[in-house]
Amino acid sequence: MTDCLFCRFVSRDLEPAVVAETDLSLAFRDINPQAPTHVLVIPKRHVATGRELAAYPLEVADVVALAGTVAEAEGLVDGYRMVFNTGGDAGQTVFHAHLHLLGGRAMTWPPG
Ligand code: 5GP
Ligand code: ZN
Repeated sequence: MTDCLFCRFVSRDLEPAVVAETDLSLAFRDINPQAPTHVLVIPKRHVATGRELAAYPLEVADVVALAGTVAEAEGLVDGYRMVFNTGGDAGQTVFHAHLHLLGGRAMTWPPG
């Protein structure tokens, strides 16, 4: 059995709060939301970082498209943020690539 938490979500060995899914990607609510909408969109393929995901353009496109679909479904008409934290300086803690979709409140820039 894999010890990757997000791979266990993909296999449904563990069940996150899924909001949407395609053949290539899974979208589920973050357990510690930082905004009224905070959804993680992951490729079903295990890769550690957004950088490594770049080797799989179909998955990149699918993850970004699914985030957009979720943003529409969540009614984020005033905008939202999509973020890949990549590596230690960015605060990445789970090393299965994931796109954060954050919205439902005004956000500051630059981020902390
Ligand atoms: P990172 O810091 O790696 O960019 O983001 C990892 C995200 O995964 C964090 O926002 C964290 O709250 C979320 N997370 C960690 N463990 C779990 C979990 O068991 N379930 C869900 N739904 N999210 C998790
Ligand atoms: Zn994984």
